[in-house]
Amino acid sequence: MTRHAIAALARTSRSRALVALRAIVALLTIAGNSLAAQDRANAMVPTVVLLGGKVFTADPARPWSEAIAVRGDRIVAVGSTADIARLAGPDTRRIALGGRTVVPGFDDAHAHAGPAGAAGRHISVDPSPTPDPALDLLLDSLAAAARRAPTGAWLTSSVGGRILDDPRATRSVLDSVAPDHRVWLAGWSGHGAILNSAALRAAGLLDAPDPAGGWISRDANGVASGRIDEYVIYTTENRLAVARGDSVLARSLRAYGEWGLRHGITSVQDMAGQYDLATLRAAVARGETMRARHRVIRIPNTTHPGGWRASWRVSGRDTVLAPNVHVSGVKWILDGTPVERLALMRRPYADRPGWHGRANFPFDTLRAILRDALARGEQPHLHAVGDSTIALVIAAMRAEAPDAAWRSLRPRLEHADALGRDQLADVKSLGIVVVQNPAHLAIPAVMSARWGADQLRAVDLLKTLVDSGVPLAIGSDGPREPGVNIMLATLHPNVPSEALTREQAVAAYTRGSAYAAFAERQRGTIAPGMLADIAVLSQDVFGVAPDALPATRSVLTMVGGKVVHEEAELVPPHRR
Ligand SMILES: [Zn+2]
Ligand SMILES: [Zn+2]
Repeated sequence: MTRHAIAALARTSRSRALVALRAIVALLTIAGNSLAAQDRANAMVPTVVLLGGKVFTADPARPWSEAIAVRGDRIVAVGSTADIARLAGPDTRRIALGGRTVVPGFDDAHAHAGPAGAAGRHISVDPSPTPDPALDLLLDSLAAAARRAPTGAWLTSSVGGRILDDPRATRSVLDSVAPDHRVWLAGWSGHGAILNSAALRAAGLLDAPDPAGGWISRDANGVASGRIDEYVIYTTENRLAVARGDSVLARSLRAYGEWGLRHGITSVQDMAGQYDLATLRAAVARGETMRARHRVIRIPNTTHPGGWRASWRVSGRDTVLAPNVHVSGVKWILDGTPVERLALMRRPYADRPGWHGRANFPFDTLRAILRDALARGEQPHLHAVGDSTIALVIAAMRAEAPDAAWRSLRPRLEHADALGRDQLADVKSLGIVVVQNPAHLAIPAVMSARWGADQLRAVDLLKTLVDSGVPLAIGSDGPREPGVNIMLATLHPNVPSEALTREQAVAAYTRGSAYAAFAERQRGTIAPGMLADIAVLSQDVFGVAPDALPATRSVLTMVGGKVVHEEAELVPPHRR
């Protein structure tokens, strides 16, 4: 064979080989394309479809629907039952809702999930949700409990204005019936407490200095006389609860979360007064904490006067401890409540002439707190009940930064009961989110005693907030049942003219709470692309009579597309 012939053959065979190679590549490409197409088709097939329901989406663009398709952790489609049913494949779980009401999972924007500080026997003297026993009645129960409880044990009870106002309620009167036990009488509002000598000693408060933002009442010799207020309570409770350890915390968080899942609560924004970061990390490491989304909002302990950021240092804006546990934002308690007359008001209290309440921190400290939040890019959560406290917050924010800087932080006012209509424009301009707690709307007798009937008509704005475009979220800070809170927000016993509609209440409890956590693009509505956090309710919260609402529970709860709670009622017979 000539060199030429060999070269020609080589060219031919090379070109044949090339043709063959091209053909193979083409075949592979076709196969590849069809595999990709198959993948794409699979990617569209939902893992779960919920069909035939009354779906409230909380999405203003499309508030009602019938059916939802979920794939993985996300909602992929919302629509009519016929349209969504068509998306289902052979492996898709079909949940027949049978007309049940479905809502985005409730997001409790203000919860207290940690364990109690003073662990021991709780004496329930007056079982109403807002107990207000007289001192003599309480002392009888205390004496009886002390006879049964082991020496040194904590005895706790919830009290109201009657005991907090009673000048006889000091450590000595508590010592007279329970000298060998640690007694902690806590104002049911979370503000104001009276301790006996053993409790004061155990908490190291007998002759401690006042921490910033707190007060220890003292006798003529400067020794604690029993009554403690504000940051003395918070820092002491925190220290006692932290000392109980991470297994107690883990159990407490787990139980709290599981209860919530049975009631359709898929997110908990937790005012973490009862633990610290180290204990939380240890609890998370046990793998036993909440299965709901758990947002941890730090409440720094204060120390000596002027010292106000002793604990909870974390770097950066958010610290993720587990896929569903993250630490973000910081809470400061700026005043008290009307119950113990510590909410700072522009007008004096109706039942204590000349008294306006009290700010926990001087204005300069408030400015420093806000400056710190600004520097760290951290959302401030400010417990502010009195209208004067709210005025101080507005003034301090304006003194520190332009409104636009605040808007990006979405500062939260927790409670904001006495927020005035004249303050709404400022609140709106600063991008402030109001987190209201329906339980606070249910004490008209106390409120009108403290603030007067005419002033009562001007407080606890809800409808006005929604109408004027101030972001509103709902948190429990009291009874946790979503049905109870929807009932109270829609009846509004304090100021019925400020009641929300059922739709507004559920939207504030879902989309509103998500907004308050910078999470409105992830959850809070039932819409394509959102996390599949969904509750199928036991009854129609939009239709039942108000007094039926408290019984509402969830028959199926989904967090991130995973069914985390399911009642047998909803399981089709063949799966039982
Ligand atoms: Zn508060
Ligand atoms: Zn609270």
